[in-house]
Amino acid sequence: MFSKILIANRGEIACRIIRTARRLGVRTVAVYSDADAEAQHRKLADEAVHIGPSPARESYLSGEKIIAAALATGAEAIHPGYGFLSENPDFVGAVEKAGLVFIGPSAGSIRAMGLKDAAKRLMEKAGVPVVPGYHGDNQDVGFLAVEADRIGYPVLIKASAGGGGKGMRRVERTEDFAAALESCRREAKSSFGDDKVLIEKYISSPRHIEVQVFGDSQGNTVHLFERDCSLQRRHQKVIEEAPAPGMSEAVRAAMTGAAVKAAQAVNYKGAGTIEFIADGSDSLRPDGFWFMEMNTRLQVEHPVTEAITGFDLVEWQLRVAAGEALPVTQEQIHIHGHAVEARLYAEDPAGGFLPQAGRIDHLAFGAGEGIRIDGGVIGGDTVSPFYDPMIAKVIAHGATRDAALDRLGSALGGTHIAGLATNRDFLRALSVDATFRAGRMDTGLIERDLDALLRKPEISEEVLLVAALAALEIDPQASHAEFRHWGEASRRVVLLADGESIERRVVFDEAGYRLIGGAAEARISGVSVGVPPSALPGISPSRGEIGRETASFTHSPPLRGRCREATEGGATTTGLTIAARTEQNGTSAHLTARVVITPTRVGKSVSVLLAGETFVFLHPDPLSGADAAHGGSGDILAPMTGVVRLVEVKAGDAVKAGDRLLVMEAMKMEHTLKAPRDAVVDAVLVAEGGQAEGGSVLVKLKDAADG
Ligand code: ADP
Ligand code: ADP
Ligand code: MG
Repeated sequence: MFSKILIANRGEIACRIIRTARRLGVRTVAVYSDADAEAQHRKLADEAVHIGPSPARESYLSGEKIIAAALATGAEAIHPGYGFLSENPDFVGAVEKAGLVFIGPSAGSIRAMGLKDAAKRLMEKAGVPVVPGYHGDNQDVGFLAVEADRIGYPVLIKASAGGGGKGMRRVERTEDFAAALESCRREAKSSFGDDKVLIEKYISSPRHIEVQVFGDSQGNTVHLFERDCSLQRRHQKVIEEAPAPGMSEAVRAAMTGAAVKAAQAVNYKGAGTIEFIADGSDSLRPDGFWFMEMNTRLQVEHPVTEAITGFDLVEWQLRVAAGEALPVTQEQIHIHGHAVEARLYAEDPAGGFLPQAGRIDHLAFGAGEGIRIDGGVIGGDTVSPFYDPMIAKVIAHGATRDAALDRLGSALGGTHIAGLATNRDFLRALSVDATFRAGRMDTGLIERDLDALLRKPEISEEVLLVAALAALEIDPQASHAEFRHWGEASRRVVLLADGESIERRVVFDEAGYRLIGGAAEARISGVSVGVPPSALPGISPSRGEIGRETASFTHSPPLRGRCREATEGGATTTGLTIAARTEQNGTSAHLTARVVITPTRVGKSVSVLLAGETFVFLHPDPLSGADAAHGGSGDILAPMTGVVRLVEVKAGDAVKAGDRLLVMEAMKMEHTLKAPRDAVVDAVLVAEGGQAEGGSVLVKLKDAADG
């Protein structure tokens, strides 16, 4: 075994590799760019070498700098992770020329599988079923169009050098072929520097099923069963699982047999994946799947295979690269239960899944039996705009598929992130999608069900009341004087939910608390504040939680109780439970909500976890000016930091509820801010083209009567 290796990657996969290396007593060297100076992988490794500026081209894609770092630190081998240089045969050659070991297949194997067209020709020869199509060298438009007609529509045009879901066009009819080819070539040229394409039959109701294979330098090849990665968005995997639902022993034998044959055809050494496209219109058939491509590296979704087989694939990679034989034979590899993985991203599903960058104010995962988290960032870290915005992979293992999916759902439900938009709710909705649950998915499921998957749970007035109490009570700056207003104990509260400003008044009387201002009136009484169970996200006992008395109202009966605190990235997160009796139309019920309060740049984030749903609100800091005097007439706040694109009003204008006031743009996404009610514009505090801090006041409104 090696004594020291360098990891030519970043983020979760670099951290993942370091964990196994450490367990095996192998020292690790991380490399990092400017943007990653404070990244976890750098901190986790035994040593770290700075390799240049933030753009990947000048750092993580610079083979020269990486090899120099390995030589300088005395590392004997380089693990490439996935992406970046992992499938670059020239890099493998350079590594070996420098006298180092590449932890992966030979340059020859990578080259043979690197171009989709050549790989398909090779697989056809090896007797592996390949999607019917044209994989040849003739790239003439007219010729390819004739081929497409011969194959039969719909067809898929693919960049031969493609990857990462890019460079693909589905074409339905002959008339559209030339234009699609043109645009596919353009994308292929700019993404991969190579505009060669292949044409293949578009398989209807496609399921993506892939087989994990492993080879060693002694000539042994095994498979570790299949993974189903059919839940995709724009050809990118979203949720993966193992084994594949509905897989029969006959189909499994055919598919794993073909995969092993494919690997052997290129003398494969190390971890690899053979991707198949399967006809999912009915039950899987032994003659209903076709080779798509081979990924000659460790796959993002390898943990589901580790979960069901009990083996550590990174350990196998290190052993095989060090010249050892595979630790087990095919007969010793079995499936135990079911595993599923969800890719948690900093992206905004409601805004077209645009990637998000910025500071993660708070990050905590729902823990539980059978849950594994492979992450690369912690609370307080920054998601950089330079790389893939993945936050973590949440992996759930259980005895059955239902058990694994239930565990995934509750781990996602207990996952709490403040500061950035993420796809957490989207993943959670997917985990309970009826078609997916029934195992009847294909790669088009997400697109078809998108509206339902993006639907937000309605925010009830009770949830708002709980959020308001938490936001007001825990605030040490809160002024109690304000509570006695208009002769009754009441306070105004502004909460932002998805950028929309919600304004209410919390009224306190002998009977309890009331929330007024919404369509319905919510009332809760018998309120008690408690310390949440240790499972509360982010407030794990291991972080040295302390219970402390909360600040309390001076009114009687006071809202007083204990909470838990945890510190991350210098900020204190508070967790508590609020239990109360709720009353509506004469019937009373009981409510227990868990609440997490995290300071953010512009105030605090309040998450209310109630009946399995999580509702996240931003409560702007009163000192940020957002909540300033003005008799609660409603200031218009920036929902996030961004640029003001359009200003439609000026001081003195009368506006009606719903009128557009201005448009902001943040992370390439537009937000329209509208008048919450009929009013007069008192002041406009920003100009077109200007920058606005999230939570800052953009426009001040006053009542028409105020003059
Ligand atoms: P997996 O098949 O392991 O799920 P993905 O297709 O999601 O892998 O790719 C893993 C990472 O590698 C992603 O960040 C993706 O953008 C990147 N990647 C994969 N193939 C290529 C390629 N040919 N060129 C550039 N990046 C790639
Ligand atoms: P990449 O290198 O980008 O991963 P793949 O060839 O693996 O490209 O294809 C990516 C995805 O595109 C597959 O997972 C599948 O969802 C879809 N796809 C590819 N080929 C076909 C096909 N012939 N018919 C239907 N869908 C396909
Ligand atoms: Mg692929």
